[in-house]
Amino acid sequence: MVDRSVEAFCGLYCGACPVYLKREGDWIVRHVLKEHALSMETLHCEGCRTDMLSPSCQHCVVRDCAKQKGLDSCSQCAEMPCEGIAGFGSGRSHGCEVIGNLTFLRDNGSKAWLASQAAQWQCPMCGRVGSWYETTCSQCGTALPAGYDPPES
Ligand code: SF4
Ligand code: SF4
Ligand SMILES: [Zn+2]
Repeated sequence: MVDRSVEAFCGLYCGACPVYLKREGDWIVRHVLKEHALSMETLHCEGCRTDMLSPSCQHCVVRDCAKQKGLDSCSQCAEMPCEGIAGFGSGRSHGCEVIGNLTFLRDNGSKAWLASQAAQWQCPMCGRVGSWYETTCSQCGTALPAGYDPPES
């Protein structure tokens, strides 16, 4: 049985989310801590398909929409990419991945997608998992080609 905890309904890979990985100093983590009055000790998320969600994702209209339609994820939706999914990337580089991810999921299934995502975000040198906005591995200094430059703060 494949563990799909980190397969978000919207097509994001929660396994590279800085909240999930608790990457202190990351711009998304800083934003979530501030918005929800959390500390690094109280920040916790186990992925979109679990009941242990960060407050930043507890009221997600995309997840709610897919669930209300009785869909396994947006990858199964005839309306994909709907307006909400198409607009996901505005202001967030990692959000631009969702249409490609959902298309891959639809065509190849969860097992293949999760394996490809795990490989995409892993440091090729030391195996540490990089998060969406890490361009260099903090453990060994290797460039992480999957990572995005963080927005100007
Ligand atoms: S905070 Fe949201 S995107 Fe990040 S791991 Fe949790 S559910 Fe996934
Ligand atoms: S309309 Fe379809 S693709 Fe758009 S959020 Fe709802 S389930 Fe996902
Ligand atoms: Zn490394």
